Amino acid sequence: MIRIAIQAKGRLNEESCLLLRDAGITIDEAKRKFLGKAADFPLEVLYLRDDDIPEVVADGSADIGIVGLNEVEETGAGVKILRRLGFGNCRLSLAIPKGEDYPGLSYFDGKAIATSYPNILRKYLEENGIKASIREIKGSVEIAPAAGIADAIFDIVSSGGTLVSNGLKEVETVLHSEAVLIAGPDLPEDKLELIDAVLFRFDSVTLSRGKKYILMNLPAKAVEEAVKILPAMRSPTVMPLAAEGWCSLHSVVREKELWDKVEALKKIGAEGILVLNLDKVIL
Ligand code: ATP
Ligand code: MG
Repeated sequence: MIRIAIQAKGRLNEESCLLLRDAGITIDEAKRKFLGKAADFPLEVLYLRDDDIPEVVADGSADIGIVGLNEVEETGAGVKILRRLGFGNCRLSLAIPKGEDYPGLSYFDGKAIATSYPNILRKYLEENGIKASIREIKGSVEIAPAAGIADAIFDIVSSGGTLVSNGLKEVETVLHSEAVLIAGPDLPEDKLELIDAVLFRFDSVTLSRGKKYILMNLPAKAVEEAVKILPAMRSPTVMPLAAEGWCSLHSVVREKELWDKVEALKKIGAEGILVLNLDKVIL
C-alpha cells in the first residue's frame, strides 16, 4: 500500500483527482474524507492543505504527493521530484507599482517587499546581492503596495490580470512553477515498485494529453509528403485500401497543430479525414 498526498481543495485538487482517475485509480469522491482509499489499486489518498504536502512526504507520513514546485522550493523539504505534471502552471515574480521606473534589480535595494514566499525570495535576493526587507504576509499580497505595507511584492502570477488590476507591473520572474509529483527520501522496495507502477500510468496519461489520433485516405503517391507532415511517434501506419492507388494513413497529432496539419494534408489529396480522442499512449 502506498499513500499519496494531494490538495484537499484549491487550484490543484481537480487536476490531481483527474490524473488519478485517468490512471485507472478510482477514489470514491462521495465518501471522501481526510483519507480515501482506491477501489482498484493499493493506494490511499491523503487530502491536505498544499503548504503541508512537501513536509508530510519528506517525513514519510505520505509516500508521494502532488504539489506546486513553488511549495516544494519554499518549504525546502527533503523530497525527490519524480515528474513535472504539466498543470498548475504559474510563476513567482517581483512586481512594482506600474508608474515606477525600473532600472533593474538594484531597484529593490533598501525597499520592503511583501510576500508569502519569504524563503525563495531571501535566497534570490542574497544570490543577487540585493539588500531589501521582506514582509511576510499570508494572503492578499497584491494589495500591499497600495495599502502602504510594502514598496513591491513577490507573488504568484499566472495571467498577470491580478497585478494589472492592482496597479502593478511584473519586473522579474524568479521561478517557473507547475504541479510536480514528489516522493519521500527513503522508501522501501515494495513501495518503490508500486510507485513505479503509478509513474508508468501517469506517464501514459500525460503523453496522451493534448494529442489526437488522426486517420485518412490518401493517394499512395502522396504518402512520402504525408509522412513529412505527420512524423508521429515512430512513423505513421500506412495500409493499402481495396481501391487501387489509395492507402489509409494513421498517426498521432498535437491538438495545437491539428488544423494546420489537416490543411496541409488536404492539399496533398487526403480525403475522409477522421480525428479521434486518444485515451492513453503506452510506450
Ligand atoms: P491551500 O488551501 O491548499 O493552502 P492555497 O490557497 O495555498 O491552498 P491555491 O490558490 O489553491 O493554494 O493554489 C495552489 C497552487 O496552484 C499554488 O501553490 C501554485 O502552485 C498553483 N497555481 C497555479 N496558478 C495559480 C494562480 N493563478 N494563483 C495561485 N496559484 C496558482
Ligand atoms: Mg496553501
